Amino acid sequence: MAEEKLIPSFQVDHTKIVPGIYESRVDQIGDQFCTTFDIRMKKPNLEPVIHPNAMHTIEHVVATFLRNDEEWKDNIIYWGPMGCLTGSYLIVKGHPKAEEIYPLMVRAFEHMANYDDVVPGTTPETCGNYLLHDLAMAKYEGALYLKALKEAPCFEYPKAERILTEKGMTFFDS
Ligand SMILES: [Zn+2]
Repeated sequence: MAEEKLIPSFQVDHTKIVPGIYESRVDQIGDQFCTTFDIRMKKPNLEPVIHPNAMHTIEHVVATFLRNDEEWKDNIIYWGPMGCLTGSYLIVKGHPKAEEIYPLMVRAFEHMANYDDVVPGTTPETCGNYLLHDLAMAKYEGALYLKALKEAPCFEYPKAERILTEKGMTFFDS
């Protein structure tokens, strides 16, 4: 569908983003769709970002949760941190709305905020930097995001004109 392909054709104004769940792009692979969501946990450029150690722990704990969630596990393609440390990417099969992802994120961050076990995959054999973790801060950040989701759920990005790079290429990532 041509309409589906037009979705990334706007530029998000990062100075106006608040924590929430946002559709970032939709890709078509054959006759299937694959949707990338920005799980935005911080206001970019306006508040401290998530510490890399906490972000790494969120990656491990939430990825494990998502891959075991009865409703969504077969549709989860990817979960991982944004390089800017203001949130995570969630890639799922199909083209669900951000509102449909909401209950899953509430479950995932309730799990993160209350997690009280060994962080999965934190041995030298299973992780590329197994000492780069901070469960206490991951729980703190998880609880903050959960609060934002529950008190002021936001599903739509402020849109601005697309920014072009010097060579005329568009910049897509967050
Ligand atoms: Zn790791």
